[in-house]
Amino acid sequence: MEKVLIFGHKSPDTDSICSSLVTETLAKHYGLDAEAVRLGELNKETEYILNHLGVEAPRKIGEVVEGQKVILVDHNEKEQSVDGREKAEVMGVIDHHRIASFETISPLYYMAKPYGCTSTLLYEIFRRENIEIDKQTAMLMLSAIISDTLLLKSPTCTEKDKEAYSELEKIAEVNAEEYGLEMLKAGTDLSMYSAEEVINLDAKEFSEKGKKLVIAQVNTADINDVFARKEELAFAMEKEISDKKLDVYMLLVTDIINTNSKAIVLGNDREVVEKAFNKKIDENDSMFLEGVVSRKKQVAPPILETL
Ligand code: MN
Ligand code: MN
Repeated sequence: MEKVLIFGHKSPDTDSICSSLVTETLAKHYGLDAEAVRLGELNKETEYILNHLGVEAPRKIGEVVEGQKVILVDHNEKEQSVDGREKAEVMGVIDHHRIASFETISPLYYMAKPYGCTSTLLYEIFRRENIEIDKQTAMLMLSAIISDTLLLKSPTCTEKDKEAYSELEKIAEVNAEEYGLEMLKAGTDLSMYSAEEVINLDAKEFSEKGKKLVIAQVNTADINDVFARKEELAFAMEKEISDKKLDVYMLLVTDIINTNSKAIVLGNDREVVEKAFNKKIDENDSMFLEGVVSRKKQVAPPILETL
């Protein structure tokens, strides 16, 4: 039988990696020859989780070949997916994002819910299908939920996420809050990354109305730590803008303790960000966004709408 590859988006985050691994378990339960893979390097947070659980990281792939069977998790947009996807056969999608630049050749399973995390959808599948959740699978899903909802504090967090979180906490027999804080903190250490790496840790590209923009995000326990490197970060962003012919590059620096963000905004069309938030970009190319932590819910929609 042909192998099915399961993967999340480029610049994979914890949800993309953990939900791929959990989907592999589900797919195998249904007799599919499936393998979770990844489209980029692991971030520090995900590395911490996999080390903690003794789980091996999925293999990294660059592109897919003609006719490759794939299942997408935690994304659907072409710009965020594997290179060569137009040649692949998409068998299924499990996602919690808007649907955009997505079309397939064949019919498929498509599961989308506006939850805070892909793993919450996966948790519901386990429950509905009466499939037992082992401790490790519970920890993978719990980690993804903690990461995507910032320990249930993000405005993207729904009642369903909270429910899954507390059920998984019981199965995993762990103190989720304690574990979650350690996990999130592990993800905020950026000292070993170059500026190029920092801006690409969690970068998502969007195209709308002929404009190309990237909104990247990094988590921190102290915004000033990251802004101490503002000059080199801005330099790396300018380089991406010219290499990829982008109209806007926005780097959101998110304070996970106080749940605020400060952004660096560059590019010829950056006034679109000023219009979207009705706020000026200061002389330091920055904009403080009170209470903003979610790219998906609080940042991308107003900008894409303004375009
Ligand atoms: Mn994600
Ligand atoms: Mn996600």
